[in-house]
Amino acid sequence: MFQIVIVGSGFYGIALANRLQKLNANITLIANSERTIFLPSTIRLPFNKDASRVEVLVKDVLNSNVELIVDQVLNIDEERIELKSNHSIAYDRLVIATGAEWDDPICPDKFLQYGIETYANELSAKIEKARNIVIVGGGIVGVEVAGEIAYHCPKKTVTLIHSRDKILNGEVIEKARDSVQSQLLNLGVKLILGKKAEIKGDSVSIDGSQIPCDHLIKATGPRANPPPSSIKGLLNEQREIVISATFQTVSTPKIYAIGDVTNYPERGLVSRHSWLATICHNLQEDVNGTSNYRSIKWHKRNFKANVGISVGPEGGAGQIVLPFGICINAPKFLIVKSKSATLFCGRFKSLYSYY
Ligand SMILES: Cc1cc2nc3c(=O)[nH]c(=O)nc-3n(C[C@H](O)[C@H](O)[C@H](O)COP(=O)(O)OP(=O)(O)OC[C@H]3O[C@@H](n4cnc5c(N)ncnc54)[C@H](O)[C@@H]3O)c2cc1C
Repeated sequence: MFQIVIVGSGFYGIALANRLQKLNANITLIANSERTIFLPSTIRLPFNKDASRVEVLVKDVLNSNVELIVDQVLNIDEERIELKSNHSIAYDRLVIATGAEWDDPICPDKFLQYGIETYANELSAKIEKARNIVIVGGGIVGVEVAGEIAYHCPKKTVTLIHSRDKILNGEVIEKARDSVQSQLLNLGVKLILGKKAEIKGDSVSIDGSQIPCDHLIKATGPRANPPPSSIKGLLNEQREIVISATFQTVSTPKIYAIGDVTNYPERGLVSRHSWLATICHNLQEDVNGTSNYRSIKWHKRNFKANVGISVGPEGGAGQIVLPFGICINAPKFLIVKSKSATLFCGRFKSLYSYY
């Protein structure tokens, strides 16, 4: 039977495996851990320390028709995936969905390696001990982390350094950026804008002057996390997997990739319905032996999508995209209700399986 293998057991790997079970093919998911973490829920972990609300056993959210293999990938070539346990798996089509690497405090690998509770306790002890916490990078993740710390630890000095003159980046409309900026200031966050931080070990300086810091958090963006592979041309200089709008890799069209590991300019889960429908349709074409592939729109960087940004559990801002690309400010109460209040903790499991 036609063999489709997915490597990566995060959001896209699991959601795709569940959706593909309708195809007349064997579906295998290779995971590097028995557990998986829902990233948007992780930033509150040092404060609520409730692992069960951010992680889940892969087998508990995976359809029983999908074969699950927990192992380490040693190499991928055009025909097979070599695994640490000494065996290799041949594939007709491969999908890579291994996500990205993040710095503390969002380290999926550390969560999985040390156990999420140990890691959460470690982070929480570091925050408790520190008087001056500095976050470098004022994109969405930096803002959300600053908001959480300032909300839960009002006595600490929290400083957020961002290279632009206003918080966040061009993919967020001005009104939402203004709202986030004033909410952070209200929580007592010190903002240093329009400056590049120089980081040496654990110390941070700006224009040669040292910023008081006894806990540094780098929120300067994730890096793609591709699995080991001997395929030439699979990655670009940033080590992202280079795909076309069909999700097929440019180097090897029988290999697909989706999510944070790719060079597709949009990140996140907002467009998951159309992405999953498109990749699923294209794999169906492969199973049928036809090639009537569908494509997603290839956005430019900074294009505007629906966004919700938490600023602590009681704050937030965002934007809603209307027909014809009109983008309006989202009311704060809507973002608090839909995201900030819970950060999806405990209620993300259904997201893997409703397709
Ligand atoms: C703090 C934070 C808040 C966010 N908030 C939002 C939000 O509100 N809305 C939104 O749309 N997006 C949000 N995102 C982004 C969103 O979570 C990611 O874009 C999404 O999780 C990407 O899914 P993925 O499947 O590509 O990667 P991941 O979900 O990271 O999954 C990758 C998986 O692959 C596994 N893996 C890695 N290497 C291997 C290997 N060699 N073999 C097997 N498995 C491997 C990893 O362990 C991991 O389980 C947020 C991200 C963060 C960090």
